[in-house]
Amino acid sequence: MYIDTHLHLCNRWCDDIRRPKAISDIAKNKIITWAQSWDIPSYMDALEYSKESEYIFPAFGVLPWEAYDYKDRFDEIAKLCEETLMLGEIGWDEKNAQDKRSIPYQISMLEVFLEAAEKHNLIMNLHFRGGLEKKGFELLKSYNAKKAIIHSYSGPSALIKEINDQGFYISYGSSRFDPSKTPQQDYYKKRISEVHEDLLILEIDVLERDKKFRPPSEVFPRIIQSIADIRNTTPEEIEAMNQRNVLRLIGDDPKLDDMRKLLS
Ligand SMILES: [Zn+2]
Repeated sequence: MYIDTHLHLCNRWCDDIRRPKAISDIAKNKIITWAQSWDIPSYMDALEYSKESEYIFPAFGVLPWEAYDYKDRFDEIAKLCEETLMLGEIGWDEKNAQDKRSIPYQISMLEVFLEAAEKHNLIMNLHFRGGLEKKGFELLKSYNAKKAIIHSYSGPSALIKEINDQGFYISYGSSRFDPSKTPQQDYYKKRISEVHEDLLILEIDVLERDKKFRPPSEVFPRIIQSIADIRNTTPEEIEAMNQRNVLRLIGDDPKLDDMRKLLS
């Protein structure tokens, strides 16, 4: 079974023409999809998309780049964390912030999410980038929040073992395997082969927005094949590994009963 642990269906990354195609493809091909949000309105949208298919599960998050706009709304964030199934996408990333005013507020906003994750044992899809991977990991470890996914981990390869030793997952996928982007591909290849097999999970993240658009049912097998090639195994084994690891991650969380039923 295909399980995509990180996909953006909201306007910023998927327009009104492609989204219905993606959603009907997800439903038709029974691809369990964790729809990520990047702010409150996109979370509200993700809640709507989840009504269109039982395979879509919304996650609530506000990306660090939006922290300035939310600096006076942490209470509102905390309230939504009380009802969400999962958290995502959240994180810490100063380098890629278009709105540099977000920088002083990124950590305090992330801490609102980490407190909620600790309190409710929520799954988190975390974005640590631009040299903050280690500091982000250290901050995460200071909380008693266990169900962390470091999404598309981009830090030093030496830290992978430490992340895995902590029981944290790492997800890979996306268009990063495009052979035309060789240096980037080598970078990810190395990291993908180093993640512990019990802690590697798969994601699409963003569907191509231009003419290259392909629905999830076409993108996902390509990701599985790339990862199987990199790890010297079969696509069947990678698909099974992903399913096994996701099942372990969701554990006995009663909020995720519906997902567990679809998976077993
Ligand atoms: Zn993302």
